[in-house]
Amino acid sequence: MNNKVDVPPTLRIAGALPLAPAPETTPVRIHPRYGHLVGGRLVDGPTDADFATIEPATGKVLAQVGTADAALVDAAVASAREAYTSVWSKMPPAERGKYLYRIARRIQERSRELAVLESRDNGKPIRETRDVDVPLAAAHFFYYAGWADKLDYAAPGRVARPLGVCGQIIPWNFPLLMAAWKLAPALAAGNTVVLKPAETTPLTAMLLAEILLEAELPPGVVNIVNGAGATGAALVKHPGVDKIAFTGSTEVGRIIRRQVAGTNKALTLELGGKGAQIVYADAALDQAIEGCINGIFFNQGHVCCAGSRLLLEESIAPDFVARLKRRIEALRIGDPLDKNTDVGAINSAAQHATVCRYIDVGVAEGARMWQGAANEPPAEGWWVKPTLLEGVDQTDTVVREEIFGPVLSVLTFRTPEEAIRKANDTEYGLACGVWSEKTSKVFSTAHALQSGVVWANGYNLFDPASPFGGVRHSGFGREGGIHGIWPYVRLGER
Ligand code: NAP
Ligand code: MG
Repeated sequence: MNNKVDVPPTLRIAGALPLAPAPETTPVRIHPRYGHLVGGRLVDGPTDADFATIEPATGKVLAQVGTADAALVDAAVASAREAYTSVWSKMPPAERGKYLYRIARRIQERSRELAVLESRDNGKPIRETRDVDVPLAAAHFFYYAGWADKLDYAAPGRVARPLGVCGQIIPWNFPLLMAAWKLAPALAAGNTVVLKPAETTPLTAMLLAEILLEAELPPGVVNIVNGAGATGAALVKHPGVDKIAFTGSTEVGRIIRRQVAGTNKALTLELGGKGAQIVYADAALDQAIEGCINGIFFNQGHVCCAGSRLLLEESIAPDFVARLKRRIEALRIGDPLDKNTDVGAINSAAQHATVCRYIDVGVAEGARMWQGAANEPPAEGWWVKPTLLEGVDQTDTVVREEIFGPVLSVLTFRTPEEAIRKANDTEYGLACGVWSEKTSKVFSTAHALQSGVVWANGYNLFDPASPFGGVRHSGFGREGGIHGIWPYVRLGER
C-alpha cells in the first residue's frame, strides 16, 4: 500500500505531522433564501431588506436572509403570547419536558448536518462544531427537559411560574449553542419565545426551526426572527415581551439595559469578557499550555470567556512562552470542514478588521507580536494566525479591551497577590483560569478573583448542569444548571 502523502512545503515545519486533507463530506441543503419561523410556519416576511450570510472561509455568499421588520416582530410576539396563554403555560410540565427530549434527540439525529452548516456559516472548525457545539446543544435540551416537571422540588414550599413571552437575542460565536442555552430553560419553565439570531450566522437557527417543526412543538411556542440590530431593538422595545435575555457585547448590553429600565420586563445580560489565565510555577506546564491554547485559540478566540490574558509566574515565563510557541506552530489553520483543522476562519470581514486593528494598536503601543501556525491560511476568506503579544503592560489597550480574536497578551507576576491584582484589574468579570498543582493555592486564588467562572487546571469546560455567567461589566444572570432556570420563573406562594 502506498501511504505516501504529498506534503505541501508549508506543512513541513517542525512539530507538524504531514496530514492529507480530511474534509467532512456530509451533504447539507442550503436554501437560496431564508425567512423566519412565526406561528409554527416558515414565513418569507418582507423582502425589501434581505441580507447575505457569507461563508467566512471563502468570502462567498451562502444564502440570502430576510429582515424581520417591526410588523413581523409584532406578529411573532403575538403568536408567542397566544401559544403561552392557550397551550404552553397550561400544559402539564412533564408533557413540556417530552417536547424538549424530542428536540434533543432530533438535534442528535441531525447532528452532522448541524455541524457542517455551523462550520460553513460561522467559520469554526468541524472538530469543534461536531464535538462541542452540537453535542452541548443537545445536552442542554436533555438537561432542561429533566427539570420541566421538577421545578417545585427545586423551590420547596413555593411554586415556580413562567414569566410569559421571552425575547432572546444571541451572538454569532456559538449560534446553535447560544440558541439552545436560551431556549431550553425558557421552554422548560413554561415560557414562550421570540429568538433573534445574529445577522452573520442565521443558518443553524433556521435548521433548528425545521427541527422544532419536526418535533411538532405547538405553533408559536418558539418564533425565530432574522435581521440585524434593528430587529433586536424592535424586540427589546416591544410592550408584549415579559423578559429579555441578551448575549452579546457589553456596548449593546448597556443600550438594552437603558431601554428596559422603568418597564416591567425582566432582564439577563451575558456580555463581554477579558479572561485571565494565571499559571503558577508549580503547575503541570504541558497541561497549562494545552489549556492556554484551548482558552484563546479555540473558536478563533471568538469566545466571551476566552483566556485572552496570560499571567505567568516570572520564573517560568521564558520557558513557558518558548514551549507555547512550539505548540502553536503545530496548529493547523484553514478549511473549517477539514477534520484536522485547529483554527478556522474569522467570522466576518468586520470582525477580521477589528482583530487586525487591535494587533496594530498593540504593536504601536510597544508589544512584540509573534504569529505561528503549521501552514499558511488560504488566500480567500478571513484569517488571523494565532498571535502572541509579548512585552505588554496592564495599561495597554490590548490588555484592557476585548479583542474577540486569536490574540493572547502575555504578562508576568511574582506573587499570588500580584497575579490576583492584575487579573482583577479589568472592567469585566466573566471567566478566569488558575493553574497550580497546589490545591490550596488554586482555591485561595479562585476566591480572590472577581469572576463569574473560575476554572482550575482546565479551561473552557462546559456542562449543562454547571452555571455560567458574569459579574461586573460581563453582565448578570446565569445560564446552565438550576441557576439557569431561575431567570425564567417567578416564585410564588402555593
Ligand atoms: P453584539 O453586536 O452585541 O450582537 C449581539 C446580538 O444583538 C446580535 O444578534 C445583534 O444583531 C443584536 N443587536 C445588535 N444591536 C442591537 C440593539 N441595539 N438592540 C437589540 N439587539 C441588538 O455582539 P456580537 O458582536 O454579535 O457578539 C460578540 C459579543 O458577545 C462579545 O462581546 C462577546 O463577549 C459576547 N458574548 C458573550 C457571551 C456570554 O455568555 N457572556 C457569550 C457569547 C458572546 P446583529 O449581530 O445581527 O446586528
Ligand atoms: Mg455567515
